[in-house]
Amino acid sequence: MSKSDQLFEQARQTIPGGVNSPVRAFNGVGGTPRFIDHADGAYLYDVDGQAYVDYIGSWGPMLLGHNHPAIKAAVIKAVEKGLSYGAPTEIEVLMAEKVRQIVPSMEQVRMVNSGTEATMSAIRLARGYTGRDKIVKFEGCYHGHADSLLVKAGSGALTLGQPNSPGVPADFAKHTLTCVFNDLDSVREAFIQYGNEIACIIVEPVAGNMNCIPPVPGFLEGLRAICDEFGSLLILDEVMTGFRVSLRGAQGHYNIEPDLTTLGKIIGAGMPVGAFGGKKKVMQHIAPTGPVYQAGTLSGNPVAMAAGLTMLELLLEPGLYEQLSAKTARVAEGLKAAATKHGIPLAITYVGGMFGFFFTEESDITRYEQVTRCDMERFKRFYHLMLEEGVYLAPSAYEAGFLSLAHGDKEIEHTLAAAERSFAKLAG
Ligand code: PLP
Repeated sequence: MSKSDQLFEQARQTIPGGVNSPVRAFNGVGGTPRFIDHADGAYLYDVDGQAYVDYIGSWGPMLLGHNHPAIKAAVIKAVEKGLSYGAPTEIEVLMAEKVRQIVPSMEQVRMVNSGTEATMSAIRLARGYTGRDKIVKFEGCYHGHADSLLVKAGSGALTLGQPNSPGVPADFAKHTLTCVFNDLDSVREAFIQYGNEIACIIVEPVAGNMNCIPPVPGFLEGLRAICDEFGSLLILDEVMTGFRVSLRGAQGHYNIEPDLTTLGKIIGAGMPVGAFGGKKKVMQHIAPTGPVYQAGTLSGNPVAMAAGLTMLELLLEPGLYEQLSAKTARVAEGLKAAATKHGIPLAITYVGGMFGFFFTEESDITRYEQVTRCDMERFKRFYHLMLEEGVYLAPSAYEAGFLSLAHGDKEIEHTLAAAERSFAKLAG
């Protein structure tokens, strides 16, 4: 029995499912999750001493690789001054200024402790600002686990939302309309029926929670136009895409100006941080300047700010995103070439530092329903073959993969050679 096996058994006694966030339990692929001892650069090291080239990067934050020396030094320096004060600090101001410098649509920024808090607060603000209750989200997009957002589409295209978790009151879910990602007609229909009741559209501009699905040309622009027409706010949930798809996130890459943006993951460099922000005239409605309540004992925590600010400063170095995109393209195209060589149909997607691969005959993946039709059994087998080869992919066919700048030739070559052997076994 491996040490991971032992720890998983032990963990399940005191932690539900043995994990503090469900996807870590490997339910999507079966088997025992690897318990991690430490991480460095592009690698994770498990408690049994096995090294893995990591394509999760703590689900996104590790854009510069694990254990980056400058970020570690900034954290240690901050820790020496105390862990939390519950009072304003200069570094919070510097952080807000840095975010606005990089993402100019975020004229004002409020720090929170997670992506969930960021989206939950942005939605409350959109509702408070517009005086409307309904929101529009997209099937397959994930925005954290706040009640309004754990909602699936009703059975008809335009029935009101239904909870997709027990514990979410149907009375809350009914305010959430769920449309089809990359299908503007479904959004227009929702607005024709409920337009002046809709506070906002919230969207992952590149969907990363249904594998990786970029927006089709015109989709984000269409959402912007519909929001303008009906006086609703456009919230780009850039918790995953922020500082990953480009320095200015997906809004920079696709040139879309949202009313509000939510950030997480990279903005904390691995510390528990999120943020939301946007137009000053909207942000002014948040307490204490406005009536929409939002708060946090540990928000703007000085240690987390030190990590995040150092990360953002490092990301300003010219040329980094060209490198990141080139590495991502090499991995995604390499996976496709290796699969094709062994007669395995595989579709790929990639933007900036995120990518997806799909075991399907279809070549152009733009819809959630296409993801649900993929060969999940093949994905699971491939996943475990790669894990045995020392490559750590997301343990679910519904998650995007992430690269870091620490992924060098050696790691990419190892990954593609491992993929080639794994596809050969799948084909055999
Ligand atoms: N929004 C998006 C797009 C996400 O991918 C996630 C998490 O993966 C969240 C929000 C929620 O963030 P957190 O897990 O930090 O609460």
